[in-house]
Amino acid sequence: MTRAPRDGVGLYVHVPFCERICPYCDFAVVAAGHLEPAVEARYADALVREIEARAAAFEGAALETVYFGGGTPALFRADTLRRILEAAIGAFDAKEPPAEITLEANPSTVELERLPAFRALGIDRLSLGVQSFDDRVLKRLGRAHKAALARETLAAAREAGIENLSLDLILACPGQTFDDFAADLEEALAVQPEHLSIYELTIEEGTPFALAAARDQLALADEDAAAGMLEHVAERCRAAGFERYEISNYARRGFASRHNQRYWAREPVLGVGMGAWSYEAPGDRHPYGARRMNPRELEAYFASVEAGDDAGVEIESLSLEQARGEAVFLALRRSRGLDARAFEREFGGPPREFHGAAIDRLMAASLLTETASGDLRLSERGLLLSDTVFADFV
Ligand code: SF4
Repeated sequence: MTRAPRDGVGLYVHVPFCERICPYCDFAVVAAGHLEPAVEARYADALVREIEARAAAFEGAALETVYFGGGTPALFRADTLRRILEAAIGAFDAKEPPAEITLEANPSTVELERLPAFRALGIDRLSLGVQSFDDRVLKRLGRAHKAALARETLAAAREAGIENLSLDLILACPGQTFDDFAADLEEALAVQPEHLSIYELTIEEGTPFALAAARDQLALADEDAAAGMLEHVAERCRAAGFERYEISNYARRGFASRHNQRYWAREPVLGVGMGAWSYEAPGDRHPYGARRMNPRELEAYFASVEAGDDAGVEIESLSLEQARGEAVFLALRRSRGLDARAFEREFGGPPREFHGAAIDRLMAASLLTETASGDLRLSERGLLLSDTVFADFV
């Protein structure tokens, strides 16, 4: 197996705190209300310690992207984020600032007021969790904000000099009609963002929404209605000049998320913080790459980092079979699809040699397309049923 050397790394910094927990969320999160300064300081200490300890595993790699995700990382003060950024730049001995520094934020007055200070730190990409511009939908989603605050935060982001603005929307929310969602999308497009991430609501096991759904207390859109909304997104975004570069992500030219593309291209990512995971590309220690997952509980995370013993950390060294499967389904997430020649260079044979039966089955079901040179892409139908496709390569 041969792979071109990867000399860059992306840093993902997970900040798990949220004002309150949304009933559909299954991320690694902690309800913090008004975040206590002592908790913020202790968590930042742990992040800095982790970055300094773990940067060595990516020896010599240039720090290309930084992504503050969560949770709600914009609940941290600008000084705290500065400290973390400086630690990262020092640990990676970065000669130049990272090419992209993203911050996730939610519409809130606290975050809105901090935007100029965040921009002054070098944060050049803001991903705002708008989710909907309809107060009825926001309420049913259990979100803490109202649409007016989202509008205010978006305007404040532009005023603060953010030139790479991304909006998150959710579709197929409880009680949401096609027209409700279409109005959300039109308002999002009218803001003229550089990037849109648009996801269908998924009901995750163990969440209050899963419980309500099991009791038939959640008026969810049926599959056809959700598919209609997804098709509408694709058409409207294309007409508005966005490229769909990944199943759920749309960008104006030059504004695809550099950090998020690292995951689909299987490029190294150091993930720090509670529940964060990292990807190490194939190398001496892990011939087919490795994933590492931090503890998902706050006290377990603190204990692991403060003792410096990796307790509770899960490390999974990938098998050749896993790496081949991931190479296929992660590439299929992107509109450019799987490059058969690159696959062959890495794995010693074309995709068909290892996945021929699955490829035939998926093509027969009109979920996959294949070019004469063996490159693979999801079909329009495959884009709607991508989980079914990916299950064949896991
Ligand atoms: S704000 Fe986002 S991360 Fe926080 S609880 Fe809600 S969905 Fe989860």
